[in-house]
Amino acid sequence: MERAQRLSICLIIAATLAWDGASCQTSTVFEGARLITGDGGTPIENAAFVVENGRIVAVGRRGEVRIPDGAARVDLAGKTVIPALVDAHSHIGYMHNLTSGPQNYTRENILDHMEKFAYFGVAASMALGSDFGDLPYQLRDEIAAGKHPTAARFVTAGRGLAPPDEMRDMRHSAHRITTVDEARAAVRDLAAHKAAIVKTWVDTRNGTIKPLAPELYLAIIDEAHKNNLRVTVHATALPDVKALVRADVDGLAHMVGDVDDELMDLLKAHPNVYFTLALGGLRRSLFAPWLNPPHPLITETVAPEQIKRLQDRLAKGPAPNAQRNWERLSQGITRFAAAGVRIGVGTDGGGQQGDQFIGWTMHTELENMVAAGMTPMQVLVAATKTSAGIVAIDEIGMVAPGKSADFVVLDANPLDDITNTRRIAKVYLRGFEIPRAAMTTKWQAEFHSGATR
Ligand SMILES: [Zn+2]
Repeated sequence: MERAQRLSICLIIAATLAWDGASCQTSTVFEGARLITGDGGTPIENAAFVVENGRIVAVGRRGEVRIPDGAARVDLAGKTVIPALVDAHSHIGYMHNLTSGPQNYTRENILDHMEKFAYFGVAASMALGSDFGDLPYQLRDEIAAGKHPTAARFVTAGRGLAPPDEMRDMRHSAHRITTVDEARAAVRDLAAHKAAIVKTWVDTRNGTIKPLAPELYLAIIDEAHKNNLRVTVHATALPDVKALVRADVDGLAHMVGDVDDELMDLLKAHPNVYFTLALGGLRRSLFAPWLNPPHPLITETVAPEQIKRLQDRLAKGPAPNAQRNWERLSQGITRFAAAGVRIGVGTDGGGQQGDQFIGWTMHTELENMVAAGMTPMQVLVAATKTSAGIVAIDEIGMVAPGKSADFVVLDANPLDDITNTRRIAKVYLRGFEIPRAAMTTKWQAEFHSGATR
């Protein structure tokens, strides 16, 4: 981005959100923090890093990094800095306070969600197959061009590809697929729009529907790869997951229920296959101390009526098999992590299980992944470098020279306790400090105006 363009964006943010514009400075050094760079390496204590025109240009120990003349200085002593987080599985634009559906899928609501992601320290979120129309592509491109500097990057898989029986809830937006020709044509449509990835579903929904046939997902994967696109699939049954890995799928959008030796061998032979785990819907029924009382980040971003609704839902207690399902998933995750299977973070936030609060689900997912057997460092790498690779945005996911200045300043070290990712002091995206105080003031006004019902 040009310097003049950055300055004008600064002035726009300052004017619209009563923001002090501190990060309008051309060159800034952030010094004194513990820095977790995102690649899994040893944190840098008493670090310094230099940001120029929204880019990180130097990273190292304080005193060993050259500081440009006239640079502004930001003292971060006592803080911990992590790369901004990335959510590789979400559903954006549907949820709005107490309602959820395509009627809410507007420019205003999508941008509101992207601002909420930014508020929570999320640099990018990938809507996985629930988008429709031209709007997602327009907003993706507008945000990438710097037109919405307080919004996280919007990554879109465009419309998913679904068999007729799946065309319900958010899958109403999908391309309806019954033949190989339809499957290939839908993939080419996504390629023409430069969708980030192709999303499809292979699930009998507990034996109630006819799932996508193998000849159709084989055609989808083949056509996608011919068009330089990847494919990620909602599939949770072990035989389906194995068949998809054999068919050269690129990613699985959910954790698989039972991991066995054969799957581990297949994954060893296909080391680029990634999993996002989407543990929140199950785990919150078993463990949600963050809801009673609601964590401040929730009250800052969610309407009181919606918080109450989730409290009421969870008060009914977990499904009878929830604990057993959690144990099955966590055993597999422990095994994946030990074997170095590629694990990213995808929360299913905004999805139609309901009340999966935008932005907040990222922080519970990180906690759930640690509870499932990963180390805090493994989880942070999953949420930053690995997920940046999954959403295919090279400039985020690490605090390193050449990357965009997208990082979160925390009041405590998440390696000590992963829930410290919630102790957010500041968020910077593209070198701009996100005006979080002004944002929550705006949301509180909306919640208390009666406009949330
Ligand atoms: Zn989903």
